[in-house]
This record gives sequence, C-alpha cells and structure tokens, in this order.
Amino acid sequence: MKLQPVRTIHSLVSRCISHLSRQCYDVIVVGGGHAGTEAAAAAARMGAETLLVTQKIHTIGALSCNPSLGGVGKGHLVREVDALDGLCGRAGDWAGINFSILNRSKGPAVWGPRAQLDRQRYREFIQGELRSISRLTVLEGSVEDLLVAEPSPDEPGSHRVTGISLENVLNPITASSVVLTTGTFLSGSIFVGQTTSPGGRIGDAPSSAGLSHTLKERLGLRVGRLRTGTPPRIVKESVDFALAELHPPDRRPTPFSFMNTHTRCKVEEQVPCYLTYTTPGVERVVQESLHLNCHIQQDTKGPRYCPSIESRVLRFPGRSHQVWLEPEGVTSDLLYPQGLSMTMPPEMQLRLIREIPALHRAEIHSPGYGVQYDYVCPTQLSSALQVKTTQGLFLAGQINGTTGYEEAAAQGLWAGVNAACRALSTPPVSLSRTESYIGVLIDDLVCRGVTEPYRMFTSRAEFRTALRPDNADLRLTPKGYELGCVSPSRYQEAMRVQRSLQDAMAALQALTLSTARCREKLPDVRVSESKNAALTGMELLQYKELSFETLASVFPERLSSYLEFSQRLKIEAVYKPHCDINKKEIERIQKEENMFLPQDIDYFSLPASLSQEAREILDRVRPTTLGAATRLEGITPAAVVSLYNYVQFAE
Ligand code: FAD
Repeated sequence: MKLQPVRTIHSLVSRCISHLSRQCYDVIVVGGGHAGTEAAAAAARMGAETLLVTQKIHTIGALSCNPSLGGVGKGHLVREVDALDGLCGRAGDWAGINFSILNRSKGPAVWGPRAQLDRQRYREFIQGELRSISRLTVLEGSVEDLLVAEPSPDEPGSHRVTGISLENVLNPITASSVVLTTGTFLSGSIFVGQTTSPGGRIGDAPSSAGLSHTLKERLGLRVGRLRTGTPPRIVKESVDFALAELHPPDRRPTPFSFMNTHTRCKVEEQVPCYLTYTTPGVERVVQESLHLNCHIQQDTKGPRYCPSIESRVLRFPGRSHQVWLEPEGVTSDLLYPQGLSMTMPPEMQLRLIREIPALHRAEIHSPGYGVQYDYVCPTQLSSALQVKTTQGLFLAGQINGTTGYEEAAAQGLWAGVNAACRALSTPPVSLSRTESYIGVLIDDLVCRGVTEPYRMFTSRAEFRTALRPDNADLRLTPKGYELGCVSPSRYQEAMRVQRSLQDAMAALQALTLSTARCREKLPDVRVSESKNAALTGMELLQYKELSFETLASVFPERLSSYLEFSQRLKIEAVYKPHCDINKKEIERIQKEENMFLPQDIDYFSLPASLSQEAREILDRVRPTTLGAATRLEGITPAAVVSLYNYVQFAE
C-alpha cells in the first residue's frame, strides 16, 4: 500500500472567529494535542460537524516532551488507534527516523513497536490530515469557559454543557457535545530552579482560570494535582559520541499503520540513538542543588513512570542510571537526553550533564523544566469518557491523569466517537478489556482512578495473548466501520486481510503430515516422539524453528499464495492454544461486562447482604456495567453476587 504523504488543503483553518461559517456545531473539541486531534478527527469521520479550538494552530501535533511514539504497551495503543482509522500511526510512519520493535526476546503478544520521530514532520503530517477532513473546522483561540445549563427538575443533579466561550470574543459557540483535552494546561505552573511561572508547557500560557473554576465549583468535579518534567535539549555537535554506545535501529523498519507496507524513512536513512550512563558526579550535583530546586522539594518522588534525574538519584543513591541520547529530527541540531528530566536551575543543569563522559563539553539549547497541573479524577467519567453528572461533557488525555501521547490519542479517539454519538443521537459505545488495550485503559481510569500519572503496560491487560499489536485490525476495524469512524477503504483492506488469514489457516489445518513425513520433509524441525501420529500445518508452525516461509517452500502449491502474511500466520499459530483456552473465560467476562447497571439505582436501599462500604463505593462511582463494578477497589465477590441478583430480579 502506498505511504500517504502530508496533505496540503488549507481551506478549513481559521485564525479568526469571524471567518466561521456557523456558531453552532455538533461537537467542539478544546485543545489540539494528541487527544484533541484524534477526538476532532474521529468525531468528523463519524459525520458530526466538528470544531477544534486550540490556543496556537502551529502547535497542533506538537510533541511536548520526547520525540518518540510507541513502545511496550504504548505501541499496542498506537496500533489500535490506527485500526480505528486514527492519525497517530500513519503520522509515526511518516515522521519516524529510527524504528525498532522493543521486547523482541519475548513473545510477539508483548512486542512494542516504537519509533524515534522527527518533530517537524510529525506536526506537519497531523496538521495536513486535519486540514483534509471534511466537516472539521480548526480555530485558533483560547477557550475561556464552558456554557453550562443548570440541572432541570427532570434530571436533578445533572448539568448539561451547551458550548464554549472564547477569550476576548463576545459571542459563544454552541454544540451538543464538548470534548476537553487541555493536557497539562489546566492551572499549569512551570518550575525551573526556584522560579515558578504560570504555563501549560514552556512558551504556552495555561488554560483560563474560568475553565478550572467551572469544572471544580459549578460542576462540582473532584480535581487533583499532578506533575511531570522534561530534560534540557542538547546541542548535537557538542556531544562526544565516541564515549557513548551506538544503538542502531532495526534493519527493516516496521510500520505502525495497517495501511502502510513501508515507512517514509528508508533503511539507510535511519538515524541512530546512543546510550550512556550517569556518574557519581551527577548525584553530587543533584545533592548540591536540592535547596535551589522547588519542584523536587515539594515532592521528591515525582511521577513513577517518567521520573526526573533528581528523583532517580534520591531514590536509588549510588547507582548508575541509563541516559539515551535520541535524535530530535533528521535535520535537527538537537538531541533529547531521555532519563535526564530535571528542574534545577539552568547553570546547575549544565554542570550536571557535563558530569556524564559523552556530554563532558555539551552545550544546552534549552533547559529542562517541570510542570504541575490540575487533572480531573477519572472515576467521575463513564466508559464513554463522558462526565457522569454533566451531559455532553467529555474529557480525554492528560486531563484524566494519564501521561503519554499514545494514552492521550487512544482516549481522544474514543471520546470523539462518543461525543459524535451523542450529537447524532445514537447510544454511547464502549470498548471492553477483553477486546482492546483502549478498553483496558479506559476501564482502569474510570473504575480505579489514578494517584499518579497513568501509563500503559502490557501487564495491565488480562488477555494479552489475544490483544496483540499484530491483530488490532481484526479486533477493531470492523467495529469501527460499523460505528462510522473507519473509512470504507480501510474496512475493505481489513476484510481482505481477514479472509486471506482465514483461508491460510484453513489450508494449514488441512495440511496433515505424519511424524515420519515431517522428519523427511522438515528435517530441521524437532518433532517430539510423543506427538500424535499426524500433525497439522498449524501445529507444525508452533515449533519455534519453523517459519511459514519454510513450510510454504515445502508445500508451495498449498501455501505460497499466503506469503504476504507469513509473520501473522506464525503468530496466529503460536498463540492459538492460548487463545482457545482464553475464549471461554472471555465469553464469561463479556456476559458479565455487558450487564447494564441502571444509573438511578439507589444503592442504599439494596438488600442487607451488601456492606455499607460497598454501597458507598457503588454510589460514588456508579459503574455502568457489572464488569466495571467487579473491578472497583473494595467491591468483594460477595458484593458482586448481591448486585447481580438484584439487577436480574429488578429486570
Ligand atoms: P497536550 O498534548 O498537552 O495538548 C493540550 C492542548 O490543549 C494544547 O494544544 C494546548 O494549547 C491546548 N489548550 C489547553 N487549554 C486550552 C484552552 N483553554 N483553549 C484552547 N486550547 C487549549 N509524556 C510521557 O509519556 N513521558 C514524559 O516524560 C512526558 N513528559 C512531559 C513533560 C512536559 C513538560 C509535558 C508538558 C508533558 C510531558 N509528557 C510526557 C506528556 C505528554 O506530552 C502528554 O501526555 C500528551 O501530550 C498529552 O496529550 P494531551 O492531548 O492530553 O495534551
């Protein structure tokens, strides 16, 4: 399939509200980060007239921190967003300059597709895509507040969002659904050394105080504070690469998108990364600068999944820590030192990095900094990412307490789909933990909440062998097409792949060989003595040493037409026994998952077998399904049985 180039239609972008052709939209998305762009694109693909409002058009698609996409768990999310026709996978294929599959030593279910990105190219691609989507208008502006209708007597306690107001603009803009994706900008404060200033990201003002006030005071949402940070950017030519370890990318780049067979960057154009380590001198500088570092003084632990160098040396003194030197782009003069996020004063930052041998004469282009921001406790959301007590208000991305572009993109897409469903008067939709990592992510957020920035890991998914990066298209594209967020061309491609895989598996199943024949035809495969008299092609492929290509070379008339799917067929065969075992368990859970819990249940009037603690938790969280209730902390199996019986009886 041809790699899609950056699109260049400019007609729908407006820097001025007076250019808008309407004042009323189906969906308004606030924020043009990773969540906002996917939300806006998905809503428009669903057929909703959509407006994306963001502070600065040129920062749409900006990578605030590390220029990379994917990784273990995160790569699964990128593949799933792509399977639902989202943008980030194709953008990654266009902007990637160093591709690798992480975790290759483990099974393919937990491989992590990852790419180092060219910042400029990534932004260009996302902006080009948005410009090409019909029914989507992009407006530069800062949203000052939400328009909120007070609860009606019919629906006491439930507000309704009806639109937005913009800073310095008199007329509001109305919509059926509003998706807030303001990232680290809600009451954002930036920290460098002893200096604190308002900001959502360096160079960008925070969101207006009105927005925070409305969320907390008018809508009564529980809001918490989280922090994160970013490293200084280093001038590439000041680095002594001879003192670092070269880490070349994969020899053959693997695209993220199911629609691409290759990446824009050719094998020989890939840019390498380097690995280096901290020294005792780094620890000394951290200790000496502690009294000058108010970000770390307030919380020495910092975020667990992207900790600062200060937290790392304070928690693990005496250790040497990895620092990856990663390119920021093909033509960029800068390097991103992953692992050196810091908030000490700039002069101390320079001292610190020069304690690392490869950086002994390094120059800093821009210092590292920390950011602290408000997030909305996500247990207040439904599995459609809509605020339970406020109709029409959807939240996605870092505002829900997550960290990372991939987590933001996944939520954004799903919030966009649901915002469109509401606007188009179709019922909300959810994804379950048994069918996708997006389902796992959303379920974790809305059922368990967060106490620190949440990032995806493969260990969070119970059915890892079924939710693989290689089969996201088969799991999600048909569902996305049915919903309306997947284009016909992608759907047709997914169906072609599905049919071919089914035919190939039937051919493999029909190919049976006695053990003696296996030894004769496939001498390198160590078929065990104890095996049944005959083995099918599927069973043979479960042998590590046998590839589909080899099998097809022995039986070309039966298998060679499926060579395009060699890797997928090998993975299908290896995981077939696990998936067969999981199938029953998944069916049981899906039944439970789908049992709808009415939102008006009076948990305090339920039978006495339910504990007071369980009632309070259920009343506060109001899970939408029995499956969601099962996973709430404090809800025992006995409580689930009581609830199940009650709902069955009530129905
Ligand atoms: P963002 O990408 O932040 O986008 C928010 C958008 O909303 C921006 O375009 C902003 O202009 C717009 N906006 C905000 N308020 C308004 C308003 N009122 N009106 C209109 N537009 C508005 N992730 C990691 O995985 N690892 C890391 O180490 C890491 N470190 C980070 C360090 C820093 C300093 C920052 C800022 C982020 C870091 N991240 C890190 C997080 C990563 O950047 C985010 O998770 C991701 O960008 C979140 O996407 P988002 O769409 O939710 O928000």
